[in-house]
Amino acid sequence: MNLSHELEVALRAVHKAASVCVSIRSSSACEAAISKQDRSPVTIADFGSQAVIIRELLQAFPEAAIVAEEDSGEMEPLRGTELGQQMVQAVQAVAPDASWERITTWVDRGNATGGAQGRFWTIDPIDGTKGFLRNEQYAVALALIDNGMPVLGVLACPNYPFGGFGVEDAQSCGVVFAAVQGMGARELPLGQLDWEQAVPIGVSKLTSAGQARLCESVESGHSAHGAAAAIAQHLGISEPSLRMDSQCKYGAVARGDASIYLRLPTSESYREKIWDHAAGWRVTREAGAEVTDVQGKSLDFSLGHTLAQNRGIVAAPASIHAAVIAAVQQELEG
Ligand code: AMP
Ligand code: MG
Repeated sequence: MNLSHELEVALRAVHKAASVCVSIRSSSACEAAISKQDRSPVTIADFGSQAVIIRELLQAFPEAAIVAEEDSGEMEPLRGTELGQQMVQAVQAVAPDASWERITTWVDRGNATGGAQGRFWTIDPIDGTKGFLRNEQYAVALALIDNGMPVLGVLACPNYPFGGFGVEDAQSCGVVFAAVQGMGARELPLGQLDWEQAVPIGVSKLTSAGQARLCESVESGHSAHGAAAAIAQHLGISEPSLRMDSQCKYGAVARGDASIYLRLPTSESYREKIWDHAAGWRVTREAGAEVTDVQGKSLDFSLGHTLAQNRGIVAAPASIHAAVIAAVQQELEG
């Protein structure tokens, strides 16, 4: 399967979408709204990002099926407001033909159902909205799913450094993680679009789980922190967990900034969404990780919008994944 054209389009799409997010995040109207605890900045950045990605996909693949997180319903109250206007301008900077009406149409084109047959794209226009609001980690996530399997994934992470996390020569320009099935995983500085120039990445090389560093959500409502601490103890891990929002966690594991991503269910009824995992799954797999649910079951992306048959996530280098699952089971099943 040659996906070089799809990869080129996907890299361009997340790059443009990330620049919309960065421009909205850095504006003074955004700061003012955030200090009022108003969700509207994240709303306009979400819609602007989704619109730009869909426009880019449709230019290259007019018949594409697309499953995207947002529909335009929540946009309506912002029509004609200063923030709404600001969104149109931010989108026009990368999509000159944009208008409020066109943005609505692009956003609503992401209404496919997904499933097991054929190809579709899935988009999380801003994954980690809490991180976006705090000006910490967030990601623009785009994946191509073919007959139920994510074959291509790209993650643009505007606040995550290219070249390493917390290392001296890392560049603070943001990073794009990208992978195609069978081609490995690579990172690019945000703004760079050439896969041939991208830097190959891989998971950390560990012989025992005790050397690992965990990463997990900042939000304790999204992943159980107490259970993760107990699992770390079972595994003999002494380093504190790296907490960050969004699929940057998959990038962190893919590059070895952390070794294990744990997402431990906090409720019986919650089902993970495909757009929260498809791109990260492909990137992390290509980098040498196993990615399963907490029972060690493969993730099933073929069931519509959710991972209906899975609970939670465990991503770890293949060499230690089984040991991590054993510790997770010991903790969760008691
Ligand atoms: P994170 O950045 O790891 O906190 O994950 C953000 C994602 O968590 C959002 O995109 C939501 O789709 C998802 N989410 C919302 N509620 C829950 C929940 N109860 N458990 C797990 N994930 C959730
Ligand atoms: Mg999300």
